[in-house]
Formats: sequence, C-alpha cells, structure tokens
Amino acid sequence: MAIKQEFKAESKRLLEMMINSIYSQREIFLRELISNASDAIDKIYYRALTDDSLTFDKDSYFIKVVPEKENRTLKLIDTGIGMTQEELETNLGVIAKSGSLAFKKENEIKDGHDIIGQFGVGFYSAFMVADQVTVISKALGQDQAYKWESQGADGYTIEPVEKDSVGTEIILKIKENTEDESFDEYLDEYRLKGIIKKYSDFIRYPIKMDITTSKLKEGTENEFESVKEEQVINSMVPIWRKNKSELTPEDYENFYMEKHYGFDKPIKHIHISVDGAVRYNAILFIPENIPFDYYTKEFEKGLELYSNGVLIMNKCGDLLPDYYSFVKGMVDSEDLSLNISREILQHDKQLKLIAKNIKTKITNELQNLLKNDREKYEQFFNSFGRQLKYGVYSDYGTNKDTLQDLLLFYSSKEKKLVSLDEYVSRMPEDQKYIYYASGETNERIEKMPQTELVADKGYEILYFTDEIDEFAIRMLMTYKEKEFKSVSSGDLGIEADEKNTDAEQKEHQELFDHMKQTLAGKVKDVRVSKRLKSHPVCLSTEGEVSIEMEKILKAMPNNQNIQADKVLEINSNHDVFKSLKNAFEQDKEKLDLYTNLLYNQALLIEGLPIQDPVEFTNDICKMMV
Ligand code: ADP
Ligand code: MG
Repeated sequence: MAIKQEFKAESKRLLEMMINSIYSQREIFLRELISNASDAIDKIYYRALTDDSLTFDKDSYFIKVVPEKENRTLKLIDTGIGMTQEELETNLGVIAKSGSLAFKKENEIKDGHDIIGQFGVGFYSAFMVADQVTVISKALGQDQAYKWESQGADGYTIEPVEKDSVGTEIILKIKENTEDESFDEYLDEYRLKGIIKKYSDFIRYPIKMDITTSKLKEGTENEFESVKEEQVINSMVPIWRKNKSELTPEDYENFYMEKHYGFDKPIKHIHISVDGAVRYNAILFIPENIPFDYYTKEFEKGLELYSNGVLIMNKCGDLLPDYYSFVKGMVDSEDLSLNISREILQHDKQLKLIAKNIKTKITNELQNLLKNDREKYEQFFNSFGRQLKYGVYSDYGTNKDTLQDLLLFYSSKEKKLVSLDEYVSRMPEDQKYIYYASGETNERIEKMPQTELVADKGYEILYFTDEIDEFAIRMLMTYKEKEFKSVSSGDLGIEADEKNTDAEQKEHQELFDHMKQTLAGKVKDVRVSKRLKSHPVCLSTEGEVSIEMEKILKAMPNNQNIQADKVLEINSNHDVFKSLKNAFEQDKEKLDLYTNLLYNQALLIEGLPIQDPVEFTNDICKMMV
C-alpha cells in the first residue's frame, strides 16, 4: 500500500489555484503536457549524441494523445526518457522547478490568472481539467516502473507498477461537467486536434491521435462505417526553421493567412535566422493595409513568441517599438524558457537582444525597399508613414537616426514624394535651409503666398499635410546639417534676393504703427514683406509655434490656447499698399476698415477662422457702397 505524501507548501497553493481556477484558457494544459513530453524525448536525443550505446531512431519517438470517452480519461503517452521514483518525487512534488512561482511575491499569487494566462505553469495545469492525475513512468536504464497519483492538493502517492517500454503515460480523469461548465470538450477528438494544432503544431516529434472517419464499407456501395485511423496532427517542421531557399513567396503568404495576421497580402516578408549571442528565428510581415482597428484602443502591437517551437505568448509587445507596431509575425527562440512570467519576460536580457536585433532588421528592410522598390515603399508609406513620423517625434527624438531616412514628403518641384536625402542632394550651393510649408492639402499649400519667394528662387519646398509633420521635424531640427525652415518664418535666409525693406519700413513706420494699434492683441507686428511677389498680404510667425501648430493645439481636448506670434506682412509693390498710404493721410476710419479686411484675408488664406464673420461681411459691404 502506497503512503500518501504531502506536497511542498508552495506547490500545494498553486495546485489549489489550478483546481479551483475558472480560467477560460484551460486548454493550455495540453500544451504544457505535450511540451513536457517533447522535452523528455529531447533528453534521449541529446543523450544519444554522446552515448554510443544509445541510438536515436527517429521513428520510434512520438507522443500520442488518447481520449477515452467511456471512462472519461485522456491519456498522453510519450516515448521520452521517463522518470525514476526519485524524479517523480522531486519533479512532480515540487513546483519550484518550473520557476513561475519563485518570481512571484506572496500576495501576488492569490488570484493567479496572470500566471496561468500567457505562461504555462507546467505539469500542474493538468488539474485545471482533471480531478485525478496518474503518471506511469519508466526511466531509461531502469527495470522498474513507477506510478505517481494525485487527486489534488492533499497529496500524492508513488508505487511500483508494470510498464514494458521506457517513457511516460499520463492519465487524466477529466472533471465532471458542472452547471456552468462543460469539460466534455477535452475528450473530443476534433477539439483536441484543434488545441494541438493551435499550440503545438511545430513540436519536432509526431503527435499522434486516432481520428474517427467514416469510410465506405468494403463490398458495399453506399454503406458507411466509422473507422479509427491514426493521424499525425502536427506539421512538425515550422516554416521559420526551413531554409529560405526552400520557400516561395506563396509559402510566406499562406503562412500570413493561416496565422490570420491580416486579411490583405503582406507587402513584404522578413525571414530572420540568427545564430549568435542570441539564437532565434523569426518571420515578420509588413502588411499592405492599415488594420481596421489600428487606430483604436483595442489595437495591440506585438509578435507571437515561441520557445523552441512552443507558443508561449500571443502578442509580445516588448518585441516591437511603437513606431513599428504595424509589423506582424512571430519569433521562436531556444534561449527563452517556457515557464516564464510576463513580468520576468520584460526584463529578460535575451528578449531585449532579440527586440533590438529585430528593430535593426526591420529598419534595414524598409531602407532596402525604399531603394529597390519605390512603388511598394510608397504604398507602405501611405499606410504607415504617419507611424514613423510619430516615432521621430516621441521619446524625445531618440529614434531619429533610425527613422529619418525612411521619411517621405511631397515635393513642390518633383510633384511626388521625396526623401530628405534626395532633397538635400539636390540643393543648390547657395541654398541654406530645407524649406517646408504646412497646410491642409497639397493644393492649398501650392497657393500659399508665403511660398512665393522661395519658389521663385527655384528652391524645392516640402509640403507638410500631416498634423504630425511639423512636430516631427522640430525634433529632427536638422538633416545632414541642414536646418529646416518654414516658408512662413520671419527670416528665410535668402539675402541676396530679399528686398531691403528697412528704408521702406522706416519711411512708413507711422502707418504701420497705426495698423498695429488697430490689430492690437491679434498680431505682434505689421511690416513690409520680403517674401511676397504678387499677393497683397500674408501672415508670418516669430518664435516656436507656427500657425499650423496653433491649429492643431487648438483642436486638442485640453488646449491651453497657445497662439503663434503672428506678423502681418504687406506687399509694398502691390496697389493695395497705395490705398493704405492714401487712407492713412486722408481718412483714418477707412484705414481701419482696410486693415481689418486685410488681416481677415490673411487669416482666411491660412485656413484660420475669422473671429467675427458678421463684421467681416459688413466691412466688405461698407467698401462696396
Ligand atoms: P518544466 O517543464 O518547466 O520543468 P513542469 O511542471 O512542466 O515544469 O514539469 C516538471 C518536471 O517534470 C519537468 O522538468 C520534467 O523533469 C518532469 N516531467 C514532466 N513531464 C514529463 C514527461 N512526460 N517525461 C519526463 N519527465 C517529465
Ligand atoms: Mg513543462
């Protein structure tokens, strides 16, 4: 008669948690047991590498899953290395082996959902679906087999039994259905097959199961009978372990679809095999379209994470920087432990190395795409370019070196998207700055009076139509030592061609002072324009905040009414200027009218709202009559 043994305290607590768990992902118990079986076969495999008396005949190693509805048991048979009496005792009697708990503080274990969540808790997860677990095992090189049995937290027994072959058999007595929950599914062939496919498809050894199919009865034409046929459920060789040369673009596309990474076709796949300080394989995809939930709260970035072929996490966010959140795919590494908690994973050195490595690969691939397939790159950029710009802007610009060469902007000269490198390499020698203009659309920017001088000079202007553009460029500050300059900024740095306006400004200072008075609180100054050629007026800005930024900041929910410092610029070559001068001498009331009209016009051109539209229309009428 076997004597009942107590579980170690920690194990007992975890076990109780498992038994009482109402966890929705109970199905992972199968993943845990199968990977234990696979580990056990691995151990023979590695032993055989160094032990000449052992041969590893691939065909005789397998895992078999046997559901028996009649007696409500689920069996897992493996031909692995097995466990001795002592090993049954230490491996299954103490949870600390798996480590998950060792990392957790006392009070954190109470609930435990997050331990069970993404990570295995190993062998004990069997108690989520079974109220009795029996392990019959014969260790390699031993004559006697042993049986370990437990019905839960109160303890386990170990006693000798008969077993012919080396390996382990685990028998789960599946729980009875309760009012709220059914456990029958863990006896159902198709359900089990689905779970195996989902979590263990890439286990190196065959996972077999007898599947019932209906077949034509021999000697009959339309009579069918149910027959059980042994099938191998898992595909065993994961695509990411295959040689790139063996794989076609279709293989990758199929994988993309099979995995439901997206409903589109990927623009590009990246297959990585690294065998260095950190070892991993990865297949990554850059989708073609923006996922429908990309800009919602529900969207979660991340890659699937496998440890040696076993899925341990659906979305490992730590593997991707936010600016590459659109990347889909998976990573498999031998260097990660299967039973590792989410918190620990975050600080895992290997994982950090992998993440860094992946980031570099993605950057390189995008750079290659830009260089070698412009059309595809632009397609990508139209979908996800904004994300890259956010990347430049966030984290205080720390990612700018990675990202600045991936940016594209519409060019006034090329009439298409250009990179900063292309812009700078085309710059004439006398051009000091990289010029840009912000506005709602390319069409509107094209007509902006502020662009006149720069465009006239023959310089290229980048059009910023995304809200984030100007903010991102402020983070960059320079590209290849060239400063960025808004066409609306005070000093454009085009001296030779700039009108010397000082004399004119002085001559009419009284006029300008008067106008400034009229527009008190609205503009900082009124001046003769250096940049206008044909338009009568425009607004320029001084200081950090541009007009586009003011608009964006205004639209934000907690806006702090940040204003750009605006300057009303007057084209002194324009006939309007003559009218202003006349009015100043003859009719101050008229001058006020003109001043307000011009200011409001300038606002309209900028796409800014007019403070008092009724007054504006009245002013126009006044002028007409
Ligand atoms: P882990 O797999 O992380 O070590 P588990 O709780 O899953 O933790 O398993 C505990 C230990 O029990 C394993 O390390 C292994 O030594 C032993 N074990 C479990 N299942 C088997 C098996 N099928 N064959 C041989 N040993 C096993
Ligand atoms: Mg395990």
